[in-house]
Amino acid sequence: MNSPLDQEVTVLRGIGEETAVQLAGLDIHTIRDILYYLPYRYDDMRLRDLSDVEHDERITVEGKVHSEPSLVYYGKKRNRLTFRLLADRYLIKAVVFNRGYLKGKLQPNSIVTVTGKWDKHRQTLTCFEVILGPHERVGDFQPVYAVKGSLTVKALRRFIQEAFDEYAQYMEEPLPEPLLMKYKLVGIKDALSFMHFPETAREMKQGRRRFVYEEFLLFQLKMQALRKMRRERTSGAGQKYDLQKLKAFIASLPFTLTNAQKKAVNEICYDLKSPYKMNRLLQGDVGSGKTVVAAIALFASVTAGYQGALMVPTEILAEQHEESLKEIFSKTDLRIELLTSSVKGKKRDDILERLKSGDIDIMIGTHSLIQDDVDFHRLGLVITDEQHRFGVEQRRILKEKGEHPDVLFMTATPIPRTLAITVFGEMDVSAINELPKGRKPIETYWAKQEMLDRVLDFMEKELREGRQAYVICPLIEESDKLDVQNAIDVYEMLSSHFQGRYSTGLMHGRLPAAEKDEIMKAFSRNEIQVLVSTTVVEVGVNVPNATFMLIYDAERFGLAQLHQLRGRVGRGSSQSYCILLADPKTEIGKERMRIMTETNDGFALSERDLELRGPGDFFGKKQSGLPEFQVADMVHDYRVLEVARNDALEMIESEEFWNGESYKILRSRLEQSGALSGEKLD
Ligand code: ADP
Ligand code: MG
Repeated sequence: MNSPLDQEVTVLRGIGEETAVQLAGLDIHTIRDILYYLPYRYDDMRLRDLSDVEHDERITVEGKVHSEPSLVYYGKKRNRLTFRLLADRYLIKAVVFNRGYLKGKLQPNSIVTVTGKWDKHRQTLTCFEVILGPHERVGDFQPVYAVKGSLTVKALRRFIQEAFDEYAQYMEEPLPEPLLMKYKLVGIKDALSFMHFPETAREMKQGRRRFVYEEFLLFQLKMQALRKMRRERTSGAGQKYDLQKLKAFIASLPFTLTNAQKKAVNEICYDLKSPYKMNRLLQGDVGSGKTVVAAIALFASVTAGYQGALMVPTEILAEQHEESLKEIFSKTDLRIELLTSSVKGKKRDDILERLKSGDIDIMIGTHSLIQDDVDFHRLGLVITDEQHRFGVEQRRILKEKGEHPDVLFMTATPIPRTLAITVFGEMDVSAINELPKGRKPIETYWAKQEMLDRVLDFMEKELREGRQAYVICPLIEESDKLDVQNAIDVYEMLSSHFQGRYSTGLMHGRLPAAEKDEIMKAFSRNEIQVLVSTTVVEVGVNVPNATFMLIYDAERFGLAQLHQLRGRVGRGSSQSYCILLADPKTEIGKERMRIMTETNDGFALSERDLELRGPGDFFGKKQSGLPEFQVADMVHDYRVLEVARNDALEMIESEEFWNGESYKILRSRLEQSGALSGEKLD
């Protein structure tokens, strides 16, 4: 123990074993912890002049008790205390519920400060807070802290006050002086005082500003430290690919790469060649041409004498990728195989054998690629598609098998820049931010449920031209019976609507994999013209003849997901359409539909979605994996986040940071977070 701040909170008055347990539930163990436990909002306790107050507003007034309080009991514990209060020049009625014990304390002529809801018509204040004494004792802003269990905000305030009075003097400043100067940030002691006991709105703001920066900086330092360690933990040689062969291969493609694709290829090749392990995210809107970039990377790795693997989340996708890679590699002698759970018996054994002996160059598959009995001869590069469905777990397995390949994650989920630098802070990012030339933007329309007949007429017009259509029904949980039923109902309605003219298929997550596959294949062979489906078609499926998509209850989807779905059409040269069937109830809901009709740019859209829904909802609650910040808000404070990121990048590379005295505290914070132990590296 080197600082009084490291003492346990039980040294504070009034904190016994039991309270300590409650505090531990908030991750508060030491004095430092409790001082750093910051409020998430403030109650505005500024005095108001009653003549300015609207009906039902929450207000604080100071006044003189003007009458003997009367106490009425009804029921055992319930009671109501009423008294007259002279607040400024107004004589009003004050009511307090279930706090009969205050009766004796509210002596006529005593000064009180009360907070409550103002009933303008009855000139009555229903009080939820009564403080005996003048307003000075309360202050203008009361901090509100997140609490759990039997711990109250009031008690926490008291503990923090005591901790501050006794120990604030020992608080060390983690931020070096030049940084404080550069951004005009208040020092740690003032900042804590401003956060916990602000006297003015300005103080509140200054305190918050400092902690937002500190929080982001620490977070980014953690990310950048991980990144640095990965880069430094070299495994010896990089992949020495054959540049001539690579150039010839790229030249043999039926199109020229877009500039964005070229840039991504360069970045990836640079990583392959260098001795550190690649950990890169390849981001690109649907249809931006990620697959070909992946193929080039795989080709490079093979020319360097390694094997490559492409992992995707579903069998259908695996087969589609196999098809497109075989096409892309048709003029090469690369040996490509597919391994999914439907590959069994002798065939599977044979593939595993050849994989182990190095007779296969590129392995495509689902997570069956990382099962126990799968051994590579010399795995150099792993690419995973739709990264957010793959996890840390899979990477750990690879590591345990003794494989340390370069890793590239592909995702079409347009992750807003703000989230990308947070969630993928320790990764390098290549973004394909341009579509191949000549694409026709999908036309998107928003229709109300009552317009369904017209929508179906529109759909039939496309079908008559020989095109195909998707009809998507919402599915929130794969296992949700109601949603599956919903898709079945729509399917039945449409099959009778189009009976004798067009054939209709149904696809949902509860079908056995083989059946799903059958249906998907029938759709791509145009044996099915109208495919009713839940969101299982979301990722990667490629049927260029499908030009029409109808999305039921579109308001139930996130914008990013709607955009993903919409990306299933617009894959050929004809004009494609997407109709959102939705009756959103809220303004935000309507706004979201409008945004969909107005923009085809996944990134712009995801930024808007993030603004509207907040980061927690963006990825969906369960898989969010988003870091939680105490005071900072990733969306609203994103400029600070960027600044902190740049500072962190610079610091991590500087000698000063690792050895200098002024960074000592920051370093020890970083150490405490486990970022320097390397345990998080995969
Ligand atoms: P993504 O996986 O990013 O959604 P794909 O890789 O499936 O996109 O590419 C979509 C389509 O665009 C494919 O048919 C592909 O052949 C084609 N394509 C890719 N790059 C180019 C390019 N530079 N010029 C023209 N077409 C391209
Ligand atoms: Mg793709």
